Amino acid sequence: MAYNGENPYPAIQETDPAVHRILMAEEERQANCLELIASENHVSRAVREAVGSVMTNKYAEGYPGRRYYGGCRHMDEVEDLARERAKQLFGCDHVNVQPHSGSQANMAVYMAVLEPGDTILSLDLAHGGHLSHGMKTNFTGRLYTIVHYGVDRNTETFDMDHIARLARECRPKMIVTGASAYPRTIDFEAFGRIAREVGAYHMADIAHIAGMVAVGLHPSPVPHADFVTTTTHKTLRGPRSGMIMCKAELAKAVDSRIFPGTQGGPLMHVIAGKAVAFGEALRPDFKDYQKQIMTNAAALAAALSAHGYRLVSGGTDNHLMLVDLRPAHADVTGAQAEKWLEQAGIIVNKNMIPFDERKPMETSGLRIGTPAVTTRGLGTSEIIMVAEMIHDVLGGRGDEMTIAKVRQRVLDMCKKFPVPH
Ligand SMILES: *Cc1c(COP(=O)(O)O)cnc(C)c1O
Repeated sequence: MAYNGENPYPAIQETDPAVHRILMAEEERQANCLELIASENHVSRAVREAVGSVMTNKYAEGYPGRRYYGGCRHMDEVEDLARERAKQLFGCDHVNVQPHSGSQANMAVYMAVLEPGDTILSLDLAHGGHLSHGMKTNFTGRLYTIVHYGVDRNTETFDMDHIARLARECRPKMIVTGASAYPRTIDFEAFGRIAREVGAYHMADIAHIAGMVAVGLHPSPVPHADFVTTTTHKTLRGPRSGMIMCKAELAKAVDSRIFPGTQGGPLMHVIAGKAVAFGEALRPDFKDYQKQIMTNAAALAAALSAHGYRLVSGGTDNHLMLVDLRPAHADVTGAQAEKWLEQAGIIVNKNMIPFDERKPMETSGLRIGTPAVTTRGLGTSEIIMVAEMIHDVLGGRGDEMTIAKVRQRVLDMCKKFPVPH
């Protein structure tokens, strides 16, 4: 079961054996486990080279052509390249590639046009929303008045008429769309109409679906939103980071809220990684990759349904699904399922399902996504085997023999489909 890959960290091995041991263990874990966490991916060697490059040494506060430090010529070049490629990918007027993360991107947008106390209408965390969309203990929940919309109890999808009524009632200053755990297509155009009707800004957070949006496999919010924020490390398969797109007239407000509003020096090595990842996303094979993610997700959803699992909303249109464990295994919580699957080398996360009666640390559901396993080359026939393995583990209720058997099958599959290096 040992990972016999190369040693990518010879300098760390020499100077810091303690850290080296940890890095090699993580290399092995990623190589030998199937990663089904919907927000994760395996970046290319090229992206890793950029993030590990000399660009980490440089302070470059400000923006290309307007820096507060000398020596920024090559910083300007790489940031301009990242910006140009992002604009080409998403067709937006203006882009800021400096946000350190998705949450930082959202923070800067809120601060660009909202005052503390203003009302934000956003998706309930328990129905698939994100912490930075108004969780009580997040800065958003502390600074702003939050009103949540959720999914319809019967369809488990957005009821646009209901959301429109809610918007007319609460008159938000901003409507936030986008989600962390919503398996269906989001009608950004309809959300944009509601926002215009009630005079609210519309921020679309496409952190999860950015890769599909970039290649036209999910409708783009760019024509229908004032701001579009995203992470770059999920389906977009770039370095761990964030980005903001907006209309030209909002560019100045956004840029000044990133720097100096909420951040200091940009992470130029990560911006170089974003430039590389956007270059990869502009190539034709990236669309094939996104298509395969969705084909695999649909196949996994169908196979799990055939094994008797209930999927929230009945299936998936994108890269992820929410499994309601209750009909198949009434006594198994999401937390237990996550633990047993991890012992078998299948990595998923427990997740609340809409109207869940269990607590967030227990849950009745699992969130499962296909971006990372698709990167390592799994196709629908392997995905059907993965569904079978998941069913075996959960049906075995933590039985050690069953887990050991599945662990071996996972290892065989991982060997056949190595993480690209
Ligand atoms: C992942 C995610 C983010 C931000 O993530 P960070 O961990 O801060 O980079 C923001 N919004 C949504 C909807 C997400 O799923």
